Amino acid sequence: MKSSPLINRNHAIVVGGSFAGLMTAKALSRYFKQVTIIEKDTVHRYPESRKGQSHTKHLHGLLPCALNILNDYFPGFYEEIYNNGGVVNDLGTSMNWFTHGGFKKSLFLNIRGVSLSRPLLEHLVRERVLSLSNVTLIDNTAAKALLSSDDKQRVTGVMIEDTQCRESTRLNADLVVDCMGRGSQTSKWLKGMGYAVVPTSEVKINVTYTTRLYKRDPDDVRGRLWIACTPEAPKERRNGAIFPIEGNRWIVSVGGWHGEKAATDEHEFLEFLKTLPNPNIYDIASTCEPLSDIIQYKYPVSIRRNYEKMD
Ligand SMILES: Cc1cc2nc3c(=O)[nH]c(=O)nc-3n(C[C@H](O)[C@H](O)[C@H](O)COP(=O)(O)OP(=O)(O)OC[C@H]3O[C@@H](n4cnc5c(N)ncnc54)[C@H](O)[C@@H]3O)c2cc1C
Repeated sequence: MKSSPLINRNHAIVVGGSFAGLMTAKALSRYFKQVTIIEKDTVHRYPESRKGQSHTKHLHGLLPCALNILNDYFPGFYEEIYNNGGVVNDLGTSMNWFTHGGFKKSLFLNIRGVSLSRPLLEHLVRERVLSLSNVTLIDNTAAKALLSSDDKQRVTGVMIEDTQCRESTRLNADLVVDCMGRGSQTSKWLKGMGYAVVPTSEVKINVTYTTRLYKRDPDDVRGRLWIACTPEAPKERRNGAIFPIEGNRWIVSVGGWHGEKAATDEHEFLEFLKTLPNPNIYDIASTCEPLSDIIQYKYPVSIRRNYEKMD
C-alpha cells in the first residue's frame, strides 16, 4: 500500500469480524494507529460457528496459496494448525478426488495442504490478530449506518448499536471497510445518503450444502486423505467431500447445484451419498459414528455489487 497524503492514519473501522474482517484488520494494523473491528455476534476465544456466519459449520477447504499467505502473515501458522489437531499433508499424495469420470492421479506435488474446520481456522487467525496491540474487537455491536461529511462526499465513521441494550454511538474513523459478507448493508446505506442504487450482477446457482460430523479413528489411514467428487458440468450436478478435521472427526458435506440436494433425514442422506461416484464418502459415513445432526445451508444466488460502476 502506497502512502496517501489524502488520508489520516489514525483510526480504521472494519465492520464484520469473520475471516475477511480479521484479515483486513491485520493488513490495516501496519498502516493505522488503531483498528477497530465491529461484530454483531458474541465472539468467544474458542472455535465456534456464530449466528452471523452459520455457513462456517460446513466443509471448507483452504487452497495452498491462501495457506502460504496466512503463513507469511502469521509465521509458524502451519505448525499451529498441526498442533491444534489439523491434518497437514502433501496436497497431491493426500488427494482422493474423483472428477470427470475418473480419479485424479495421486502424486507428490511438494505443495502443503491442510484440513481443519473453518471455525478452528478462524479462531487461530483471530487469536493472532487480537494479539496485535493496536487492534480491538467490539462484539455484540452492529453497524447501523455510515456517518458522512455534510456534502456526503466522504464516509467519516459508523453509527453502531449495542445489540443487547440497543444504545447507539457514533464512532469516527479515517477509513471504514465493509466485511459484512453476503448480508452487507452498504448499498442500502449509500442509497440512504442520496447515492444511486448500486448496480449488481447475479449468478443464479441454487446451491445446497448438507453436512454431518462423524467420529474418526486416529489410526484410520484414510484420515490422511482429502476425499472428494466434483461433477462434470452441465450433465452432472451432485458433489460431495469428506475431510479429516481436528478432534479426530470427519466432516462430510454433500449437495449440488441448480436444485440438486441431499436430505437431512438420515436414511435419505446416506442414500444420496451412495449415488456419488467416489465410494469412499459413503463407505466412511456409513461405518463411522455420527457426532452431529445433519444440517443444511442454501443460497440461491451469488451477487456482485459493482461499486466501481457508480459515480
Ligand atoms: C456452504 C459454504 C461453503 C464454503 N466453502 C468454502 C471453501 O471450501 N473454501 C473457501 O475458501 N471458501 C468457502 N466458502 C466461502 C467462505 O465461507 C466465505 O468466502 C467467507 O466465509 C466469507 O467471509 P467474510 O468474512 O467475507 O463473511 P462472513 O463469514 O459471512 O462474515 C460476515 C460477518 O459480518 C458480521 N456482520 C454482518 N453484518 C454486520 C453488521 N451490520 N454489523 C456488524 N457485524 C456484521 C457477521 O456477523 C459475520 O461475522 C464457502 C461458503 C459457503 C456458504
